[in-house]
Amino acid sequence: MRNIKRIFIHCTASSRKTSIEQLLAEFKSRGWHAPGYHYVAMPDGRMVKLLDEEKVSNGVRGYNQSAINIAYVGGIDAKGSPTDNRTIEQKAAIVHLLIELRSRYPNALIMGHRDIWGANNPKAWQKACPCFNATREYGAI
Ligand SMILES: [Zn+2]
Repeated sequence: MRNIKRIFIHCTASSRKTSIEQLLAEFKSRGWHAPGYHYVAMPDGRMVKLLDEEKVSNGVRGYNQSAINIAYVGGIDAKGSPTDNRTIEQKAAIVHLLIELRSRYPNALIMGHRDIWGANNPKAWQKACPCFNATREYGAI
């Protein structure tokens, strides 16, 4: 069993129309052997599992060995600027998954990708992902 210390929430920083096939192709084009996320929440609420939780994904450099990475498809507006455009279905799917993960990893911290630098560190806001305060929103799970 991997020792899971953190569950990171991400956005794909792409159009909400992005398909799983397109995401996988992007990971491959970066030369990654593993996908960026274990789970991806689609706009219709479908949660797609890309990787077994025992395997290491490529979500947050330096932290992946002890992390589960989850993304929602979206996170940018039509001009490419960061925005929280999660659908109601995505929000529900993420909460559902987090409750399930919490039962398996009772001590893991749930946080947004950017929160790894600390909520009060200005550097955190240089990276918008996941474009909302995941630490606050999921703090009670
Ligand atoms: Zn991210």
